[in-house]
Amino acid sequence: MHSQIEELYQMVCRRDPYEREFHQAVHTFLLSIDKIIDELPEVTYHKVLERMTEPERVIMFRVPWMDDEGRLQINRGFRVQMSSAIGPYKGGLRLHPSVNLSIMKFLAFEQVFKNSLTGLPMGGGKGGSDFNPKGKSDAEVMRFCQSFMTELFRHIGPDTDVPAGDIGVGAREIGYLFGQYKRLTNSFVGVLTGKGQDFGGSFIRPEATGYGLVYLSQAILADKKMDLEGSTCLVSGSGNVAQYTTEKLISLGAKVVTMSDSSGMIYDESGITSEKLAFVKTLKNVKRGRIKEYADKYGCTYIERVEDTPNPVWDIKADYAFPCATQNEILKADAENLVKNKVKLVGEGANMPCSMEAESILTGNGVLLAPAKAANAGGVAVSGLEMAQNSMRIKWTPEHVDSELKNIMGNIYRNISEAAETYSTKDNFIDGANIAGFLKVSRAMIAQGYV
Ligand code: NDP
Repeated sequence: MHSQIEELYQMVCRRDPYEREFHQAVHTFLLSIDKIIDELPEVTYHKVLERMTEPERVIMFRVPWMDDEGRLQINRGFRVQMSSAIGPYKGGLRLHPSVNLSIMKFLAFEQVFKNSLTGLPMGGGKGGSDFNPKGKSDAEVMRFCQSFMTELFRHIGPDTDVPAGDIGVGAREIGYLFGQYKRLTNSFVGVLTGKGQDFGGSFIRPEATGYGLVYLSQAILADKKMDLEGSTCLVSGSGNVAQYTTEKLISLGAKVVTMSDSSGMIYDESGITSEKLAFVKTLKNVKRGRIKEYADKYGCTYIERVEDTPNPVWDIKADYAFPCATQNEILKADAENLVKNKVKLVGEGANMPCSMEAESILTGNGVLLAPAKAANAGGVAVSGLEMAQNSMRIKWTPEHVDSELKNIMGNIYRNISEAAETYSTKDNFIDGANIAGFLKVSRAMIAQGYV
């Protein structure tokens, strides 16, 4: 690493010593940028990297809400507005007990470059709370969302910052958040994406991250004369991204044999069919149940998750793997298992699902790695299309949105593979995504002066 980049990284670590996830995201990114920094003296002169690693604004706030027993509960809310260089801040809201400033900053940082790769005019941000929606009633979730928005509304707007969903935030939560924003501002505008179909939501937004992941993976495989049809695939998670990744894989003739949640995984050797997937959707989205109920119903293997042991999802023989749960779900031992089982591609549906060690084991053993910044950009891309439809007060058909999504994912693949070949090594899509995403944001920052 160049000494100036190493020093910058050390400074980022020193300044916020407890932000491990943020350090990891910055480190992977800087390793890629290190390869081109000599050719970009203006980036050094204008301190672009120093500015990119410091959020434009961080908002942290108290979220008081009343539970069903009439007890007052207090959570912490966040919105990290990382970069508005190429458009309004854009990125999801996460509701999960693990949420802290480090996780918010890593997600917001990744979002900047992901949004740049989509080709749409969107800056990067991320937000959420350590509120745990699991086990809460609809009324409790609504009261939490209303309280959260009662502070957040003053910091967002259709031309300022447009949040969406992420872990723990689906159609129900977006509906409650939107309702409260509308009530507080007396305006019906496209301030959130992932809205319900009846009030400004785009067709294909729920499907977009999973479908986009499969479209991009398909493009990579096609270049290698490989195919999803007839293949065996591993999927982790059973939420939004996992469900629609599985749906698209099934429709393309692949056999998906696993899904999981934080309690355990199912291994269905005969393959998850469309009918079984419909059961998972109702189980997770409506009944808010556990994936174990799939094994109980269909009589397949269920393996309970044991903390600090390798994740059993990644120890099953398959052709391709799609981590769709959360960050750092593939660690060193998991990567070794994937290599041992001759998995040929890992498509990252989740954000930063591989540790840096896992990444280098995978790529060092010739596994094709489609990094999250590119691979899961389909969700935010269709969010961008939802913003466009809201501004124009029109609604495109599902077919139109799906074909736009396919085009965007195809363009992302071309951009990251060209950047990999030009600036790094062929098929190093991590470098390709970091560099292609970075160049555009960097040019915009320099053009706009010191802001
Ligand atoms: P959901 O809340 O719909 O589903 C998350 C799934 O992951 C659940 O099955 C959940 O299990 C599991 N999970 C969450 N945290 C953990 C954990 N710490 N350990 C094990 N399993 C866990 O979220 P999404 O599907 O929307 O998001 C999944 C990933 O995709 C995240 O990394 C997110 O940032 C990323 N992503 C999402 C986009 C979107 O459009 N929704 C866009 C781009 C990226 P359980 O129910 O037990 O908690």
